[in-house]
Amino acid sequence: MGFTEKMIRWARGRSPWILFFNTGACNACDIEVVAALTPRYDLERFGLLLKGSPRHADILVVTGPVTRQVRDRLIRIYNQMPEPKFVVAAGTCATSGGAFWKCYNVYESLDSVIPVDAYISGCPVKPEAVIQAVNLLAQKIMKG
Ligand code: SF4
Repeated sequence: MGFTEKMIRWARGRSPWILFFNTGACNACDIEVVAALTPRYDLERFGLLLKGSPRHADILVVTGPVTRQVRDRLIRIYNQMPEPKFVVAAGTCATSGGAFWKCYNVYESLDSVIPVDAYISGCPVKPEAVIQAVNLLAQKIMKG
């Protein structure tokens, strides 16, 4: 691996920008993910920044079961993100459908709709788990 590539990976891993998307969550996971971004947990100390546009985001954090209504929007958002892009499934609903598993109106899991790089368990997720998952992902990005 050349010096330039090393530098690019290091910079990417040190400043991942995230986009947060609720595909049908009950709101409890959202509150916990947002808490991870507040000064109390301070995800920004790791270089992370919350962005409002998929075109500026490296990591997509998804909460909730993927409903049939939101599926196309989720795929459009994923496709709008520049490469390399990463997806985090936050909470039991996103990882496996959770309480909505096998319901007629939701997909089985997030990874049955878009590729997922990291999973966070919990109902709801804990802010500490969000921080750990994002850090592990950042290390993965740096290693390439
Ligand atoms: S995992 Fe639990 S807290 Fe999170 S969206 Fe599903 S039901 Fe709500």
